Amino acid sequence: LAEAAIDDNAEPGRTADGHAVKLLANVGSVKNVPAADQAHAEGIGLFRTELLFLDRTSEPTRDEQIGAYRDVFRAMAGRRVVIRTLDAGADKPLPFLKQEGEPNPALGIRGLRVARQRPDVLTTQLAAIAAAADDCGADVWVMAPMVSTLTEATAFAAAVHEAGLPKAGVMIEVPAAALRAADLLRAVDFLSIGTNDLSQYTFAADRMCGDLAELLDPWQPALLQLIAICGAAGRDTGKPVGVCGEAAADPLLAPVLAGLGVSSLSMSPRALPGVRAALGRYSYAECRRLADLAVAAPDAAAARKLMG
Ligand code: PEP
Ligand code: MG
Repeated sequence: LAEAAIDDNAEPGRTADGHAVKLLANVGSVKNVPAADQAHAEGIGLFRTELLFLDRTSEPTRDEQIGAYRDVFRAMAGRRVVIRTLDAGADKPLPFLKQEGEPNPALGIRGLRVARQRPDVLTTQLAAIAAAADDCGADVWVMAPMVSTLTEATAFAAAVHEAGLPKAGVMIEVPAAALRAADLLRAVDFLSIGTNDLSQYTFAADRMCGDLAELLDPWQPALLQLIAICGAAGRDTGKPVGVCGEAAADPLLAPVLAGLGVSSLSMSPRALPGVRAALGRYSYAECRRLADLAVAAPDAAAARKLMG
């Protein structure tokens, strides 16, 4: 936060030669908006909605949800807010969902999969988001976590549009979804790559397991290759493809992600100034060249070394 507070560069994110990469903030509630503002975020790229649902035995009412979402939307009037529908499951258990314990919670009913058992929770949340978005002044986009297939993406987009919200997207957190990014972009308006989970599922390495940090390194070429597939699909369709996982907060990686076709980076506000500065040091052609080399690198250390 200290770093963000002294940053007076309010320029939008771009490479040295002006290729735009939107720099957005991750927030969990309106309390995080001042930090996003101080860091000159161009909008919110990930509004995690779990906070409102945690530690309670009953689902928050539609009105409670409207209040919490509206606070953030109004504070971001004139800017983009990407709000994510509830990302719960046996890994982030919510008492009111009364889910059975699962032997492999990371592989179970989590994220959008909860809607298979409780479609009403998603319907209520989308109705609340739509009501909060009405007349709020922000450009509200809605995305789902843990999407694996085109069928899931299509059903989610239909539910979002049915609620009266114009922009539907999905997170890319599962390798199957990354491989089919071009297909998914036929069904939705944008993609947002959640590199924390995408690393976990690509390397079969629990994201909480410190001993496996080297597999979860965002410079792993296999992860970058999956991001490249998504970026290429974004370039081909002209639709936005962002990154909102921890990888977006690594200043050295920002030029590489831009070169892979990523059009926005969303991160903790304190990381924004460093990422903005790093991006401004490379032309878009250099970003593309570095991206190709990073994907072709034999390992994460060699990929990182490309940046000097
Ligand atoms: C991710 O998985 O990268 C992500 C942004 O979502 P979360 O960290 O909330 O799972
Ligand atoms: Mg995730």
